[in-house]
Amino acid sequence: MITRINHITYYTDLHSAYIQFLGCNFNCPWCIRKLTPWDHHLSNNELAKLRFQGLLSMDEFLGIIDNAITKYGLEEVVLGGEEPTIDPTLPIIIKELNNRRLRIKLLTNAYEINNQLLNELRSCIDCRVVIGIKTLDPNKHIKYTGKPLESVLRNIKQLLENGVKVIFETVLIPGLNDANDIEEIAKYLASIVKEPILIIDPLIPIPGTPWRKPTQEEINETMNRASKYVKVVMHEKIGKPSKIIVLYP
Ligand code: SF4
Repeated sequence: MITRINHITYYTDLHSAYIQFLGCNFNCPWCIRKLTPWDHHLSNNELAKLRFQGLLSMDEFLGIIDNAITKYGLEEVVLGGEEPTIDPTLPIIIKELNNRRLRIKLLTNAYEINNQLLNELRSCIDCRVVIGIKTLDPNKHIKYTGKPLESVLRNIKQLLENGVKVIFETVLIPGLNDANDIEEIAKYLASIVKEPILIIDPLIPIPGTPWRKPTQEEINETMNRASKYVKVVMHEKIGKPSKIIVLYP
């Protein structure tokens, strides 16, 4: 059985593996993957050495995970990269990781959550789903991602109704998803979930796109305004820097 996993890195100090899936059902112009298809936290030297070596089979993937548990004391896995939910084997991957008693974080745009995946997430005590909300403006959503917002909001509600632990993430993009927009996102989250958590990522600009990096003032203003409704977390403040090992390819 072939998965859509093409890259795995391991953060030694965090005991956490970042498992990257290839392909996405959205087409966001600011996607960090347009800078590099690999984990962008790796050094330029490491990045230069990486070459695509194919998608992993389920057995190969589980072999890498079991080895990381034995050799490095792996405790947590983050499923991300592009969009894990487009991998039909994702429910099996989650089941296998859950059987190994690993903490699981699934990063997703929540556009496609099928029943098999929902069931797996419902029964997984150590799973957290991190949903990236691009914008709450339906016109901008379809213009920039290529897909309607409606399905994302419907799936968020479905996950919450089924007791899945969900946190949210959005990218601060001056002129597209700025302090006003993120305050609206925060207000919306406070209306649908108790004690919502929102991770705010300042944009890393992609050459050839019109959006710039937000200033520190813009970041502070966005945090202050969103904090009225949600607990705000900034990505660079999560955890400490860690040594990174490439487990695949
Ligand atoms: S949903 Fe995420 S991975 Fe997919 S295109 Fe948008 S930013 Fe990139």
